[in-house]
Amino acid sequence: MSTDYRAFVIGAGPGGYVAALRLAQLGIKTGIADRTALGGTCLNIGCIPSKALITAAKTYEKIGRADKMGITVKGLEIDMNGLQKWKQSIVKRLTTGVGALLKGNGVDVFMGNARFRDRSTVDIVDDKGKTTTVRSQSFIIATGSRPIEIPGFEIDEKNVLSSTGALDLDQVPRSLLVIGGGYIGLEIGTLYAKLGSKVTVVEMLDSLLPGFDPELTDVVHKKLLKSGVEVHTGARAVGYSKKRGGLEVELQISGKSETRKFDKILVTVGRRPVTDGLDLDRAGLKTDAKGFLSVNERLQTAAPGIYAIGDVIGNPMLAHKASKEGEVAAEVIAGKNVVLDYRSMPAVVFTDPEISSVGLMEHEARAKGLDITVGKYNFVGLGRALTTDAPEGFVKVIAAAGTREILGVQVVGAEASELIAEAGLALEFGAEVDDLALTVHAHPTLAEALPEAARAAVGEAIHALKKR
Ligand code: FAD
Repeated sequence: MSTDYRAFVIGAGPGGYVAALRLAQLGIKTGIADRTALGGTCLNIGCIPSKALITAAKTYEKIGRADKMGITVKGLEIDMNGLQKWKQSIVKRLTTGVGALLKGNGVDVFMGNARFRDRSTVDIVDDKGKTTTVRSQSFIIATGSRPIEIPGFEIDEKNVLSSTGALDLDQVPRSLLVIGGGYIGLEIGTLYAKLGSKVTVVEMLDSLLPGFDPELTDVVHKKLLKSGVEVHTGARAVGYSKKRGGLEVELQISGKSETRKFDKILVTVGRRPVTDGLDLDRAGLKTDAKGFLSVNERLQTAAPGIYAIGDVIGNPMLAHKASKEGEVAAEVIAGKNVVLDYRSMPAVVFTDPEISSVGLMEHEARAKGLDITVGKYNFVGLGRALTTDAPEGFVKVIAAAGTREILGVQVVGAEASELIAEAGLALEFGAEVDDLALTVHAHPTLAEALPEAARAAVGEAIHALKKR
């Protein structure tokens, strides 16, 4: 195998492998290296395993409360080994698929740790210590991120877990302390609460899911409390010690010190870029103080011919953002005149209920001084929401007051993750509220909330009481 490439990708997560596939599709000789597994964080220890467990937990909970629909189930049990096997079978299927796609498109795959020798050369060392040297005209750095650790809570994946350990448990912990109320902590905390753990969340800031519209996060916060999860905002975990019968944790809640016992501690206080070990200085590159690489709108770093994409260039750390950046970087390398546009980049939180957003949130639009109109439609008014036993939540449409152009859409409620796709398309097309309102939506569906919220933004919602 010749090791001279026109493009070489470091990291085969959703950023890197998509970039490699797009490069190959554009007729560019491409290689890719990964030191752990094809599919990166997302497929192996992130999006996919978490969503598999969340689905199982939701199903378990749903069956448990199906008696109000006249369905009685006796002897409902959760078998964590069976669940982990199912989860792993999905991971395997998807990661094998990535390997097949890369091979099928003619991308050379190297398993090993890559580091720059100079701006056009990379050494890849496999787990047996064998080095392969590759040369390339361009490189794409897609090395992703890893969990941030906090003093006093060193991650050992036994007592103190990162998301990786938490998604691999073979027993449901009796009690779980989640440190950090961001999306990863809440998704995993919620799933274990549904499986029967007594879950406590501590978040240093004043609200859960910082950055999201508080009107949305409030719905999730209330549902957590309703389902027995203890939530403390403005609180922090100070340290812990191993005691008989559990982990004794010192918490600071409302300025007071408290000691509580837990089975497991999950630390989800954010993620930091993986740039160490790449010998970036040899390629003429520097990171910022936090380790992130800076790029322009064409994903080009300060070093000619070197691009960076995905978590390694910063927030939002999302798989589809990494993939989109991968496609754009590949097209730039192929000489296409493209730039990245984040306007219709969606974000989803798979809590109960789910949250999704695309475009501007109300507080962001107001902070920009925009003249906006806001429409809301509650799920409780939808036949489908009631027949699926999911009446919580709403759709919110933010539009420009004068032009009626849609600036943003948020959803909190069942299937928010699916409903946001239509809103993304609306933003991509530069749609106005009338475009959403005039589109006939099948009945009964949750998607009917979108045209209603769009109409509400201009005071014309059909299934709403007249304002006096
Ligand atoms: P990664 O997926 O992290 O891939 C980077 C790859 O680079 C890794 O495979 C690593 O082994 C490799 N690598 C690093 N350094 C080197 C080196 N020197 N040499 C060779 N290889 C190297 N996002 C969503 O959009 N939706 C979700 O539902 C979602 N859920 C998540 C749940 C959890 C628990 C976690 C942790 C994350 C979740 N994410 C989700 C985030 C998502 O996983 C990341 O945003 C995404 O994986 C980033 O892709 P990437 O390609 O930038 O990096």
